[in-house]
Amino acid sequence: MGMIRLKNVSKYYYSKGIIASGISRVNLDFDAGEFVVITGESGSGKSTLLNVISGLDTYEEGEMYIEGKETSHYTISDFEEYRQKYISCIFQSFNLVSSYTVYQNVALAMQIDGCDPAEIRQKVTEIIKKVGLHEYRNRKVSKLSGGQKQRVAIARALAKDTKILVADEPTGNLDSVSADGIVELLTDIAADKLVIVVTHNYDQFRDHATRVIKMHDGKIVEDTGADRNGNGAASVRGHRSSRTDHSEKKKGITYGTQLKLGIRNTFNLPAKFLLLLLVFLFVVGSVSAQYVSVKKQKDTVSEEGWNNYFSNYDPKRIVVEKQDHSPFTKADYEAIENAPHVEKLIREDIMYDTSVFIENDEFSFYGYVLNISNLDKELSIGKMPEKDNEVILEGYDDGWTFGEKPEDLIGKTFTVATDGGFEQKVKVAGIIFTGAEDDELAMFSDTSRIYFPDSVINEVRKGLYASNSTTTMRINGNEETLYVGEGGLMVNDMVPEGYILLPTSYDSMFRKGYAAGNEIELRAKALYYDESLSLMIMGTYGEKTFEKKTGYKNLAEHDGEIYINPMDFRRLYEKGSFQASVFVDDTKNIEGMKDMLERGGYHVLVLRDHINNFMNEEIVSIMQLPISIIICLAVFFVAYFVIRLILKSRGVYFATLRMLGMGKKPACRIMRVELVLVCLISYALFIIFTCLSRSGIINSEQLESYITYLTLRDYIILAVILIFMSVLISGRFMRSIFRSSAMGTYREEA
Ligand code: ADP
Ligand code: MG
Repeated sequence: MGMIRLKNVSKYYYSKGIIASGISRVNLDFDAGEFVVITGESGSGKSTLLNVISGLDTYEEGEMYIEGKETSHYTISDFEEYRQKYISCIFQSFNLVSSYTVYQNVALAMQIDGCDPAEIRQKVTEIIKKVGLHEYRNRKVSKLSGGQKQRVAIARALAKDTKILVADEPTGNLDSVSADGIVELLTDIAADKLVIVVTHNYDQFRDHATRVIKMHDGKIVEDTGADRNGNGAASVRGHRSSRTDHSEKKKGITYGTQLKLGIRNTFNLPAKFLLLLLVFLFVVGSVSAQYVSVKKQKDTVSEEGWNNYFSNYDPKRIVVEKQDHSPFTKADYEAIENAPHVEKLIREDIMYDTSVFIENDEFSFYGYVLNISNLDKELSIGKMPEKDNEVILEGYDDGWTFGEKPEDLIGKTFTVATDGGFEQKVKVAGIIFTGAEDDELAMFSDTSRIYFPDSVINEVRKGLYASNSTTTMRINGNEETLYVGEGGLMVNDMVPEGYILLPTSYDSMFRKGYAAGNEIELRAKALYYDESLSLMIMGTYGEKTFEKKTGYKNLAEHDGEIYINPMDFRRLYEKGSFQASVFVDDTKNIEGMKDMLERGGYHVLVLRDHINNFMNEEIVSIMQLPISIIICLAVFFVAYFVIRLILKSRGVYFATLRMLGMGKKPACRIMRVELVLVCLISYALFIIFTCLSRSGIINSEQLESYITYLTLRDYIILAVILIFMSVLISGRFMRSIFRSSAMGTYREEA
């Protein structure tokens, strides 16, 4: 049984619609121990025959047998395995990795076989000495002469140590002395292996060859034993071949070597590395910018939007209530105020969105209610409040808001208009003039505000609760809803505690025509409370008794009013504060704040998420994501094509690895290592860059406003996206390389 047998094998080339015959109907038989020399004029098919034998190229007709096994059904990867196991090649065009050193090139063959490092070091050193390149072992192949390259190619083939060695014009580039040395080497090898050499200089091999094959026009025209050593000698040598069997120890390239080669490939061509790095920086930059713009969009929407329930829709505002719906305590307030990232806490949240009038005979002012404790600005005129009933006003000094002479308002007494008829007197202690540009809230709400002390706030809130509660009165089995305020339920000092004074119309609800002495129930119900109060009807008032019973003069102005004692009113409506507003220092901290408050027992309403926008918010967020994905895909494809261009010569590299018998999977991994590594380096640069910007070494507001949006989680997500992209790109790239046979790729790329 021969080692290699070809039966009627033909190979055609198809190029530009023309079919050329490479070899046609070739029948050959090779055995171990043979030293075969193939000759013939240029274009006679010698290289084609070698490529077919070494599985580098496919054949179209006939059958090739390897140790008796058919190969016509072999896939590309079957041939790679076959090459790794059986074939060492010396190519006419060397097929060396020119960016590797001599040593690295020779070692490559053994690394692909998975030999252990110590063995590789020893054997490679030895072989390099044998071919006379010891002093050049650390020089890059690209810097060698043609003859030296030829010797590297031979050294690599020797290092591979397989049963078959094929060589295409191995002495073509050598002077006759070196050529003789190579011939000696090959003769040595042929002692127990099959050596097939193509040459047009038969004389160099005459003394050593065991067989000569002459080709012409793709056909074998002569196949004879050499002059002195006939087939007999071959069989003697063939006998000796049983000494060693090289094929079994090949376990394939290790993961460590794959990683090592990937890392080496990343850096061994600096220009290429820098180009790749630039492309990846572009990818990192554009993907992160896209990512940030999606996050930023959310905030922009809320800055430009408005809200139906809250007049102050600052995107940094979070409205909270306790999960058990109880009023806030001092301890609650303090805990929140001392939490990180809290810029300020508005305790009287519900009033924050409420505006009230203060007025006297000459002037009236309308503004949102704030507690004096929230005052964080300098007074423009006047002084800080010292007494319990003093307030501060804030607004534009436009000659209208505060009148022509704002200073005249200082020290004047005003009445706060609240529901339920409370007459709360306040004095203006100071005024703040707002400039539109220096007020961050100006864009979110009206700028007129009144800062009240606690005591007044309590009164204002009571009125507010009264008008926002559903107040019902159950009288003699009937229930009716009361309006609180003028013309409805009012307070009156002349009504004693526990009593209620009704208009005379209620008398008719009772059988005897007298309401007095009967019990009624008042009930005030709101989101946070449900309070009931039993009162005795003290009587009813009519036209004649009105002034005596109420102290008011004109009944017509007070028609239908119902009076209770201020203490009872207080019992119904004086509740604590159930809602507060937390302002975070930066919108990027909103999510964290929300989590923290929810864990702390609060219901949380992030105002930013409940904002209407001129451009429908839904559409913005629905469109934003796909647009970002499309942009990222575009970036991906641009990057892919640029990277492909940059890696063009990597095709030759991988074709070379395949010729040495490397399979697709390890080759892919080597590629992946390279791209992921460049990706990580550019990502590291990106992170260094952002750190420099955060710490203020690089000074750009634009940049900073972007970077503040990136949290640790975002950095991780970004890294995953980028690594995923580079794995995808390397996968695509390798698929394109492995589409055709090893020789095909080489021809395409070289
Ligand atoms: P040799 O090595 O003896 O010089 P080759 O095997 O290289 O001959 O070429 C054999 C024949 O096949 C020649 O006619 C040549 O033109 C043709 N041939 C070789 N390679 C290709 C190719 N890649 N595309 C088309 N024709 C080719
Ligand atoms: Mg040739």
